[in-house]
Amino acid sequence: PNGGEMSLDVAALRAQFPILSKTVDGKPLVYLDNAATTQKPQAVIDALVDFYTGTNANVHRGAHHLSDEATRRYENARTSVAKFINAKAREEVIWTSGTTEAINIVANGLGQLLSEGDEVMVTELEHHANLVTWQQACRRSGATLNVVPIFDSGELDVDAFDRLLSENTKLVAFPHVSNALGTVNPIKLLTEKAKAVGAWVLVDGAQGIAHGGVDVQDIGCDFYAFSGHKLFGPTGIGCLWGKKEVLETWPVWQVGGEMIKDVTYHEATWGALPNRLEAGTPNIAGAIGMGAAVDWFSALDVNALHEHEQKLLAYATEQAEAFDGMRIIGTAPNKVGVLSFLLEGAHPADVGFILDRQGVAIRTGDNCAQPLMKRFGIPGTARASFSIYNTLEEVDSLFAALKKAKMMLA
Ligand code: PMP
Repeated sequence: PNGGEMSLDVAALRAQFPILSKTVDGKPLVYLDNAATTQKPQAVIDALVDFYTGTNANVHRGAHHLSDEATRRYENARTSVAKFINAKAREEVIWTSGTTEAINIVANGLGQLLSEGDEVMVTELEHHANLVTWQQACRRSGATLNVVPIFDSGELDVDAFDRLLSENTKLVAFPHVSNALGTVNPIKLLTEKAKAVGAWVLVDGAQGIAHGGVDVQDIGCDFYAFSGHKLFGPTGIGCLWGKKEVLETWPVWQVGGEMIKDVTYHEATWGALPNRLEAGTPNIAGAIGMGAAVDWFSALDVNALHEHEQKLLAYATEQAEAFDGMRIIGTAPNKVGVLSFLLEGAHPADVGFILDRQGVAIRTGDNCAQPLMKRFGIPGTARASFSIYNTLEEVDSLFAALKKAKMMLA
């Protein structure tokens, strides 16, 4: 490919990720499953090792040096995340095990406030995490779930969104970026519309967080949920950001240690944010690792990263369009990071298997979005997803491998 890598030194970036120099069956690893999880830079690995080597202790309770140090690092990580998303206050950042738990916290809180006649709105683009939660919350409360359609391109039908919004809409939930199709939603516009009817707004940021800057105050939503592991951090840690006035008044999620204020055998009162929503010993190392990931990522030039990712996607899309027998699933004008496709006459799982034999790692299947796959009349897709450390040469490797797959399967 021509054009080079311009302003971003991708080779230097890649060198910070030990796993990227791995080989698979003697072939260089071409990791294109970044929407499932991203790889981790040495800075994050070091933060985890440092914590367990030098400062492991429980937080918020110790009367000793290690506990103080662990608490300091843990809370500094919260501050890093709060700054990263431009939260108004650091207490608005609640540690969770990931996006899924963050959405469940919101659904659990809202579920207790919903009743018959209320409406919740999601989109056809949802990952199961942002669909099944609301579907079940509606079933429990008697509220109605409305699903905003998309066009065949994978772009959200904003007029239909307008039509479905009403005074009865209590909450609107949508993905920042679709994991299956790569569609980037106009989240600020959708938030503005939902706020005009007085609805709460939840953005599923699992795929949005690592692709360009997120400013929760600018978006204007009430909740933004994301995972550490899709942002170069560890698994098992994520965040629920929520507006303080909402998080401190909604019903609590889990109860137990850390989150209480006063307890008698028959009564309990809740502590202040963020502890109010963080019962039990948290994932201390995970939070510190996620803080390290955010610090590492924030030091990079966000515009250069975005430009590089868009170049990868454009280059891959161009090759996909020229590839005989390839159907791209998801052609919205505003896309990031994801190329979902089908090869004529071949099952995605077989394509994935043949690619793997050549060192190329992609995702195949329903992308945790079964209703969306049904909407397209397909069982699933093959999905290549790109991150900041991927190269144009890796896109070439993907298509070279796909040519082989086509020869073997067609
Ligand atoms: N929403 C979207 C759009 C996702 O892509 C994912 C992860 N694939 C999730 C939610 C769930 O994230 P996690 O599994 O990290 O909780």
